[in-house]
Amino acid sequence: MQTLYRSTRDPKGQTITASQAVLQGLSPDGGLYVPTSIPEIDLDLNELKDLSYQDLAYKILRPLFSDYTDEELRSCIDKAYGDQWDTQEIAPVDYHADNAYLELFHGPTIAFKDVALQLLPHLMTVAAKKNGSDKDIVILTATSGDTGKAAMAGFADVPNTQIIVFYPKDGVSAIQEKQMLTQTGKNTHVVGITGNFDVAQTNVKKLFNDKELAETIAEAGYQFSSANSINIGRLFPQIVYYFYAYGKLVKDGRISVGDKINFSVPTGNFGDILAGWFAKKLGLPVNKLICASNKNNILTDFFNEGTYDKNRPFYVTSSPSMDILVSSNLERLLFYVSGEDANKTAELMNRLSVSGKYTIDSDMRAKLADFAADFATEDETAAEISRIFSADKTAIDPHTAVASKAAESYKANTGDNSPLVVVSTASPYKFPQAVLNALDAKGKDEEGLEAVKYLQEKISVKLPETVQRLFDAPTLHDTVVSPDEMKDTVVEILK
Ligand SMILES: *Cc1c(COP(=O)(O)O)cnc(C)c1O
Repeated sequence: MQTLYRSTRDPKGQTITASQAVLQGLSPDGGLYVPTSIPEIDLDLNELKDLSYQDLAYKILRPLFSDYTDEELRSCIDKAYGDQWDTQEIAPVDYHADNAYLELFHGPTIAFKDVALQLLPHLMTVAAKKNGSDKDIVILTATSGDTGKAAMAGFADVPNTQIIVFYPKDGVSAIQEKQMLTQTGKNTHVVGITGNFDVAQTNVKKLFNDKELAETIAEAGYQFSSANSINIGRLFPQIVYYFYAYGKLVKDGRISVGDKINFSVPTGNFGDILAGWFAKKLGLPVNKLICASNKNNILTDFFNEGTYDKNRPFYVTSSPSMDILVSSNLERLLFYVSGEDANKTAELMNRLSVSGKYTIDSDMRAKLADFAADFATEDETAAEISRIFSADKTAIDPHTAVASKAAESYKANTGDNSPLVVVSTASPYKFPQAVLNALDAKGKDEEGLEAVKYLQEKISVKLPETVQRLFDAPTLHDTVVSPDEMKDTVVEILK
C-alpha cells in the first residue's frame, strides 16, 4: 500500500507522495508533511536483535517511502550507512552507571545529525529523478555550526548536487569552523558572513523565496531544495535507531522481547524525540519518552503546564544544539494530539507567530501521556558529566549529559525504574572545552584542537579518526562576504 503525505495545516488534506515530500521539505502552506496513516512495518520484535542496522533501516523505511523502488531504497541505505562510519553497528549501545547510552555519534561529523544527513542526499537525488526533474539540486543552508557541516558531509560528491553553507564568521566554535573549512568534495561551498546566525538564516530564507534568483539558477540547470530538519527525509531515518537500541538491549540480556523501556532524548527542534514517538506508533514497546531540555526549558513548561510561550530570555549554554525557542517539529505532534485537526493546528501556529504563545486544551494535554519532560541547568549538566566520569572514566558530551540528568530526575520523581536508554547525540570530542570544564581538568582554558589533546589524556574514550585528521587537514575554503553579497555569491558559485 502507498503511504501518502499531507500538510499539518491543510484542512482538505490534499496528498503527495513520499518522494515529493522529500523534494519539497516544507508544505507551501507553511505546514509540515505527515503520513495520512501510520503504515504497518514488516518486523517481528523477536528478530530485531539479529538484524544489521542497514537491514533494519530497510524494513522500517520501506513502507514510509513507499514510492521508492526496493532497489532505490536499498541503494540509498547502503550508501548512507557504509564505511564512513567508524563502526559497522552505526548506532552502538554502551552502558555507564545504571543506564544504556545509544551512541549516535559514530558518523563523519561525530554528532547525531549524520544519521539522517548521510541518507537524505540520496533520497533527494532519487526523488528528483522520480519526479521528472532534469536539474541538479542546490542545497542552501545557514548554520550555527553543526548542521552545515553534517549536511556538507552528507552531500559531498553526491552526483547532481551542490551544497552552499553560510555561517557567521565569528559565531561558531574553533572546532566547528575547522571542520567546515577543511570539508572536501567538489560540490561543497562554505561561506563565512560578517553577521550573526539570525542574519544568515533570514537571508537564506529570502534567497529561497527569490523568484528572480530561482530563474537565474534554473537557466544554469539548478533547483533549490532544503535539508532542514522538518524534511521527512531527515525525520524518518531517525526512527530506525530506536528499534536498533531495543534489539541491542534484548541481545545484551537487559530486557526480554515485549518489555517496555524509556528513552531520554536531548531535545532542540523536537525531531529526534518525535522519531521516537513514531517508533512507538509503529509498535516499539516504549513507556515514556523523556523530553530533556537545557536552561532553555520552553518544552519542559509546555509538557508540564500546557502552554508554549517563547516570550522569555534566550540563553547560550554548553549544549548549543538545544539552544532554541521554537521547536518546529512540535507542530507534527500538535497535529496528532488535536485528532489530526489541521484547522486547530494552523490556529495554534498562527497564535505562536502573532503573540509568541499558545495554550492547548485539556483533551490535547491528555494525549501527551507518552511524554515526560525535565531540564538540566548548566551546573547540573556539568555535575552529570562528572558523575559519569567517576563511574568509568568515560565522558559524555553536554547534550547527552542534559538527557542523562533529566533521566535521573524522572526516575527520582516517578519511581519508574524501567530500563532506560539515554540518547547520546554527540561525541565528547565535539565539545572538549565544556567537558574539561565540567571535570575541572587540566587544559580547561584551551580551545579547539588544543582542548582535544587535553581531553584525550583525561578520558578513556578513543579519539575519533575524523577529529584526528583535523590536526593536519588543509583549509580548502576561505570566502567571507557581507550579508548583502550572499545572493551574488550563490550566482557566482553556480556559474
Ligand atoms: C540537533 C541536536 C540535538 C537536538 O535534536 P533535535 O532533533 O533538534 O531535537 C541534540 N544534540 C545534538 C548534539 C544535536 O546536534
